[in-house]
Amino acid sequence: LNSVYANLPVTIFEAVSQLCRETGAINLGQGFPDDPGPEDVRRKAAEAVLDGWSQYPPMMGLPALRRAVASHYGRWQGVALDPETEVMVTSGATEAIAGALLALIEPGDEVVLLQPLYDAYLPLVLRAGGTPRFVSLKPPHWRLDEHALRAAIGPKTKALLFNNPLNPAGAVYGAKDLETLARALEGSDALVVADEVWEHVTFDGRAHVSALSVEGLAHRTVKIGSAGKIFGMTGWKVGFVCAPPGILKILAKAHQFLTFTTPPSLQEAVAYGLAKEAGWFKAMRDGLQAKRDRFSDGLRAAGFSPLPSAGTYFLNVDLAPLGVADDLAFCERLIREAGVAAIPVSSFYAEDKVTTIARFCFAKHDSTLDDALARLAAFG
Ligand code: GLN
Repeated sequence: LNSVYANLPVTIFEAVSQLCRETGAINLGQGFPDDPGPEDVRRKAAEAVLDGWSQYPPMMGLPALRRAVASHYGRWQGVALDPETEVMVTSGATEAIAGALLALIEPGDEVVLLQPLYDAYLPLVLRAGGTPRFVSLKPPHWRLDEHALRAAIGPKTKALLFNNPLNPAGAVYGAKDLETLARALEGSDALVVADEVWEHVTFDGRAHVSALSVEGLAHRTVKIGSAGKIFGMTGWKVGFVCAPPGILKILAKAHQFLTFTTPPSLQEAVAYGLAKEAGWFKAMRDGLQAKRDRFSDGLRAAGFSPLPSAGTYFLNVDLAPLGVADDLAFCERLIREAGVAAIPVSSFYAEDKVTTIARFCFAKHDSTLDDALARLAAFG
């Protein structure tokens, strides 16, 4: 069958999870928590199902959820959003990203992609007819460099994809970095597709700064959020897109033919969850931060070299001190011989690959982390 998609590999996340199912390895690869997520939110969904929420909800999302998203971002990120014209519900952030790229990119348009980049971005950009322009961020700090950004942005740039906090790097970009991005984009008509799904998973007191809250970016930003990441319920696939009305209208045209709607019971429950008091979010963050520290300390004790993680569920290990130059081969050995799965960070690159880092997900029960650490210590 003649399709470029025929030659795409299965995503690294699915491939690694499948190998874990086959081998019984502890899966610290794909990013999902051991816990099923907050019980009250799950009960809300169950109630909504039993109450008979079975038919199509409105195409743009349940009004209650659109209002909850607007007020949540108002409260947490200081952005004023009109729920009727600036918020749309999608079936997960992946649909939002796909819809944004399909709706906005015309053949010949250039799209700036920052490496490391989430694996869905590039195939979608290419399918939409876009030409990628890569900017590589360097470990261990993954800093944004204004000159490198400027060099990639030109008259044909239609969009720049910006993932903050950055998966897999665990980097969190603050106000200064966003100002750097805004300066680099000055004089350009490029849009910013801001994948902010990790917005609530930031550590050591860092607050998330949304591109929508930054002058010079707000008017050109498509902000994407995810209930799956906010509540640690990755299978729910409820996402939201926030953008200025003129842009959102166009995104809605893609959404109506991609998924059209998202299960109303889940939308109802997410609307309830977004209104949770600040303490819940802080406890979630503190809990994950404690896991990060537990895992990081354990790795160090086992002879590995963890890199800093300021946000996301992920901790990276520098493999160079172990003499490893091929992260993919190393991760495969780790699954088969140590019984622990991680994601090779080279999978997040299209060119100039960094091949000496492995990404571990620490959003797991302490007992799971301890088991994995014991296996890694025995392996190392
Ligand atoms: N976002 C998840 C991760 O980075 C993967 C999601 C997926 O498997 N599609 O691990």
